[in-house]
Amino acid sequence: MKYIVTAEDVHRLAAEGERELMVREHTVITDAALDAASLLGVRIVEGSTFSTAAPEPLAPAARPGARGLPEPVLTGLTRNRTATTHTAPTLTQTAPTRTQSAPAPAPTRIEGLPDYSTLHTKLLIGGEWVDATRGETVPTVDPATNQVIAEVAAAQLEDVDRAVRAARGAFPAWRDLDPDKRARILLRVAEIIEAEQERLARIESHDVGKPIREAALVDLPACWDPWRFFQGLVRAIDGRVLALPKHSFDYVRKEPMGVVGMIIPWNFPLHIACRKGSSALAAGNTVVLKAPELAPLTCLELGRICLEAGMPPGVFNVVPGLGEVAGAALAEHPDVNKIAFTGSTVTGRSVMRAGAGTIKRVSLELGGKSPSIVFADADLNRAVIGSVFGIYLAQGEVCSAGSRVLVERPVYDEFVARFADKARKIRVGMPHRWDTQLGALINERQCERVYEYVEIGKAEGATVVHGGVRPVDPELAAGNFIEPTIFADVTNNMKIAQEEIFGPVVVIIPFEGEEEGVHLANDVRYGLAAGVWTRDTGKAHRVAHALEAGSIWVNHYSAYPSEAPFGGFKESGTGHDLGLESLAEYLETKNVHVNIGLETSDWYAGN
Ligand code: NAD
Repeated sequence: MKYIVTAEDVHRLAAEGERELMVREHTVITDAALDAASLLGVRIVEGSTFSTAAPEPLAPAARPGARGLPEPVLTGLTRNRTATTHTAPTLTQTAPTRTQSAPAPAPTRIEGLPDYSTLHTKLLIGGEWVDATRGETVPTVDPATNQVIAEVAAAQLEDVDRAVRAARGAFPAWRDLDPDKRARILLRVAEIIEAEQERLARIESHDVGKPIREAALVDLPACWDPWRFFQGLVRAIDGRVLALPKHSFDYVRKEPMGVVGMIIPWNFPLHIACRKGSSALAAGNTVVLKAPELAPLTCLELGRICLEAGMPPGVFNVVPGLGEVAGAALAEHPDVNKIAFTGSTVTGRSVMRAGAGTIKRVSLELGGKSPSIVFADADLNRAVIGSVFGIYLAQGEVCSAGSRVLVERPVYDEFVARFADKARKIRVGMPHRWDTQLGALINERQCERVYEYVEIGKAEGATVVHGGVRPVDPELAAGNFIEPTIFADVTNNMKIAQEEIFGPVVVIIPFEGEEEGVHLANDVRYGLAAGVWTRDTGKAHRVAHALEAGSIWVNHYSAYPSEAPFGGFKESGTGHDLGLESLAEYLETKNVHVNIGLETSDWYAGN
């Protein structure tokens, strides 16, 4: 049973002279009640694990957060809950009723598998759930057991074409919709995701193999937040007027591009679909999302949620399917204006080539081999905590994983020892258990690939300090597991230091001084992200400026606030997700020049 505190309750308490309101686990406080409490000076006091308080200020040193994740890395990822109703708006409705019910509070401990009978497994085209043309399917498999979860419709060329036509048909009305109404629909998507966070976390964890704790506390907040951020920007899209001679009225307009094709990977499917989708839709485009074949389930849920939020049919279409079939068809489709791709650098190249046929706008979020640079003056404890999180989050299957840790020589041995001590204690386990901290790799092929890199590293002369082997727990025998793995005595020219392994494998490399640290950090073909650990402010900025990477984190690792543009240098891609930069990438620039004078000069006069 939930107990709902309304503004009226707060007024009554205040009138009775009470200055504190105790909330318990099942208490839900409406927005209006929170406003009333702050207005009347009533303090909200927690009586349980349910928190209504503002986030604690950053502690000087990283320490485990309330739910076991280091706080600095979560800063900027999570936002306070909100409390609004989930009634789907219609296109003509302008004012949603506030505060009838509230989203569930962040889960404190959820476990278990999703209810298979409720999973969506068909294509979503033009608002209809349909089979692929000839009934083709691809199984999606549980990485922890290698058992099939569900057969999911696999879009063929014809299906992709139907989805693009649906998106094209829906485009004019969506583009021309009152921006306020478009914003409200986007906000509703955020609210539904937040309200359904437990169910979505269960599905994501099961389909991807990631610990449910991470799905719930890291992925999900990063799924609803971009919708909130970009809905706020819908009404801020504007242009400019140019300062030209007085008879010219010249202005620059920003317009949506049309149909955006999105192709995304399996490691954070819902988060990546949300961060791209919210931005493209906010700009007024319609979308065809090619869900990843290895973990398509939450993308299909997102399609359902968009419909429930009141998005007109055809605005957001979801076509799971094989990359070489559905992905390639989307990248080549002549009526797709832009491709927003996230995936490997190899596939990114072929998507870029495919888009060249019709000069598509293409943005690419690709792979990485990102350094976490630890200087001798750093707070070593913080550097260890952040670097461990930087590599082992999501089994290291993260584009921006801090997979190359560069450590200044005087503290190298101590750092390696402390890092190993921490990594050793990470609990590898079944993803659906709350206590699990490292789950399963996406499939057998990826798991074998990671083990191959372990052998390559040994052959190259690096030392395995920990891991590189299967966990002994018999419950994990059928899944794609590997112990967190650490290589020391690595040089930057080794294969394991240069290639993206995409697994829980870190290489720790010594360096001497700032210049060499920066040189080694940049000496790689990728440039996605980097961490810098130092107490010297000047050095932190100098190094941040010298690094060839799109995201630099100083004294923490892995923060992706919706406000911050995320994109790569060099072979890590082109273009950005998130931030104002991403919105701009879904808009065309048009210039309109009007002669407001009374004359038209006749070039050919006198002929
Ligand atoms: P992938 O390149 O194999 O697949 C990505 C997507 O592309 C999938 O949906 C796939 O079906 C599709 N695809 C495959 N072949 C295609 C083709 N010929 N034409 C069109 N689409 C095609 O990558 P993956 O294995 O799914 O994901 C792992 C990679 O993604 C890693 O390299 C990782 O670094 C990268 N990644 C990058 C970011 C980022 O933001 N930079 C985020 C997450 C993952």
